[in-house]
Amino acid sequence: MNKKPMNLVDRIKPFVFPRKTGTEGHLEIQDIIGKAVENLGLSIERQPFSCRNELSIFMAQLGVLFLILTIGKTIGTMFFYWISVVAAVVQVFVYLIAEFGLGARILISRQKGKGGLKATNLVSRLEPAGSQKLKIVYSAHYDTKSLHSYRIPVYRLMLLSIGLFDLLIIALGILKVFPSVDTAWRIYPVIPLSVIELICIVFFLVFYIVKNESPGANDNATGVLMLLDILERYKDKPLQHIAVECVFTDAEETGLTGAAEYVRQNVEKWKGEKVWNFNYDMLAGKTPLFVNSRGAFPLIEYGREIEPYLKSVCRSNQPYQTKIDDKELVINHKDIVIGTDAAAFFFSGIPVIQFQSKSKVHSKDDDLSVLKEETYEMCRNLTFDLIDHLDQSL
Ligand SMILES: [Zn+2]
Repeated sequence: MNKKPMNLVDRIKPFVFPRKTGTEGHLEIQDIIGKAVENLGLSIERQPFSCRNELSIFMAQLGVLFLILTIGKTIGTMFFYWISVVAAVVQVFVYLIAEFGLGARILISRQKGKGGLKATNLVSRLEPAGSQKLKIVYSAHYDTKSLHSYRIPVYRLMLLSIGLFDLLIIALGILKVFPSVDTAWRIYPVIPLSVIELICIVFFLVFYIVKNESPGANDNATGVLMLLDILERYKDKPLQHIAVECVFTDAEETGLTGAAEYVRQNVEKWKGEKVWNFNYDMLAGKTPLFVNSRGAFPLIEYGREIEPYLKSVCRSNQPYQTKIDDKELVINHKDIVIGTDAAAFFFSGIPVIQFQSKSKVHSKDDDLSVLKEETYEMCRNLTFDLIDHLDQSL
């Protein structure tokens, strides 16, 4: 008798509950994933490791640095102009580094396999029927976190006040060219700007306290389910030349830690192999499905190797063409390095494809109601088409 395939919500339900690294739910999800893989008749390897909450440490360090720089800007504009210029330049530079991908790189490089947090990556593999020509590491994190929703408006207000304060510093610099111009009025904008900036930084840090309230339906039970779907399909339909390595990563929300640890342990071994990474993180949200194979940095273009395959699969399949035109699918969006496990692979020189469709990120509202089944289906079909096409062309 043919079983009717279950819908996404029914299939994903067992994986949807708060599961922050270090909590009870976190241990529970490991068992659920382990059993789901074993039910497919496959084995699962538990790879425990130690880590710290790098992201919280990093944010606290950045916060303290920003507080010092804001105080430097305030004192500088009142008494020693050059201090305000140095502080403003450093602040903008640090912001750009943290925002545009290098923050992820710093977090990854900090993972040394040490710390009080106990985490576990879960790995299941399928060997190819013929000779291995490519290994694809499919990664999806299973941990969750939630943050206070006020962090977003506070963050915007902080950026606005930093921007206005820096404009004031530039204006004062220009006026310095004319020594006769009186700038005693500067106390009136400096006081409110520095107070707003200081309050915003403090509140941003307070609102960044990580909680365990997100059920993590889209982020990232959808990715977990995708890896199970890949294992289920290719266990009965072996690939000729592609080795499948599914890694359910832990501690992504603490700073891409599980993926960083996995890459750290394997990167030497991979040097003798051709290895790619497909990263699945949020697959059924309200945005289109973004399929990213390039970095935000134009100089780092590991993804180029993958692009032709991605394009030819999308070109030869009418459904993807229609979806791209209708903006339900966006190919080669350039933000691969920011904030997902893909960054751990990408910065180690491994070509990456990142699949992502966001909604209600890190919120207690990330429940079953946010899921958009068609987006998940499209992601799964595209994945299978891509793997089949790759296997045939190798
Ligand atoms: Zn995620």
